Amino acid sequence: MRKKSVTVIGLGPMGRAMATAFLDSGHPVTVWNRTRSRADGLVAKGAVLADDPAGAVSAGEIVVLSLTDYDAMYAILGPATGALTGKTLVNLSSDTPDKAREAAAWAAGHGAYYLTGGVQAAPDGIGKEESFTFYSGPKSVFESSREVLEVLTRTDYRGEDPGLAALYYQLQLGVFWTASVAFLHALAVADAHGIKAAELVPYLSDTMATMPDFFGFYGPRIDAGEHPGDVDRLSMGVVSVDHVVRTSEDVGVDASLVAAVLAVFERGIAAGHAEDSFTSLIETFRKPGS
Ligand code: NDP
Repeated sequence: MRKKSVTVIGLGPMGRAMATAFLDSGHPVTVWNRTRSRADGLVAKGAVLADDPAGAVSAGEIVVLSLTDYDAMYAILGPATGALTGKTLVNLSSDTPDKAREAAAWAAGHGAYYLTGGVQAAPDGIGKEESFTFYSGPKSVFESSREVLEVLTRTDYRGEDPGLAALYYQLQLGVFWTASVAFLHALAVADAHGIKAAELVPYLSDTMATMPDFFGFYGPRIDAGEHPGDVDRLSMGVVSVDHVVRTSEDVGVDASLVAAVLAVFERGIAAGHAEDSFTSLIETFRKPGS
């Protein structure tokens, strides 16, 4: 069966991995990148390096963007809007949901079909069965592009709103980055006691492995708007977090991350939730001024 032609614009580690996956699966691939030398390895494998963005867009039935952010897309495609009519743009660059919605309207205004994607994999996960990508935008556009996109990762279509894929992506990253910085903070405190990462990592990993059960238990209660203090109470939690802050301060390690967590707990107490579960803190997030 004829394979659709694909263009990949943006050849950082992610874009190069994507272009390689398309080449390996037999798609005709055109690439373009601001720094042209990044295309060398792909051209050696059979990709065509377009002279300019308009040529790159014209060459592909599906145009995949893998750029630092959406501003890079406007910088590249702004001068090439004449080539967009009838093309399917799949923007796999990360940015905010609002930026994704604006971009979808911009692309539609130039006659293009548009999907947003949020890739849940590192470059070495491209082409691997365990990897997936959130997509959103018109269902018909997703369905007609799906087979090509599944060359990269499995797909998880979230809905018509083009902001949804970006939203799901950012929600994962919010948890990922705060947990990753908490990881570094714990290692700094441990190091101040002469304990190396290699010794602590197995224990931190065990703690993280409990999180799915934790989320699974509290999620339905949060959806129901119920925060009973039958399992945990905020008054207990605030003392516990204070111990974490002081353990950090006692060895001169920057406690700003855990102090921020303590401040959220204290706001919950001030709002009258001392006898409720820590999940009541979701109300303090919803009312940041209170
Ligand atoms: P890089 O930052 O390494 O590459 C970004 C690409 O954007 C490069 O091709 C760069 O061109 C181009 N670019 C940036 N700004 C401009 C501009 N103003 N004009 C023209 N081109 C520009 O990113 P990655 O390849 O690592 O990632 C790409 C996207 O995928 C990002 O949005 C990232 O958040 C997302 N992602 C990345 C993951 C990862 O692990 N790497 C994981 C999941 C998602 P040049 O080469 O000339 O600098």
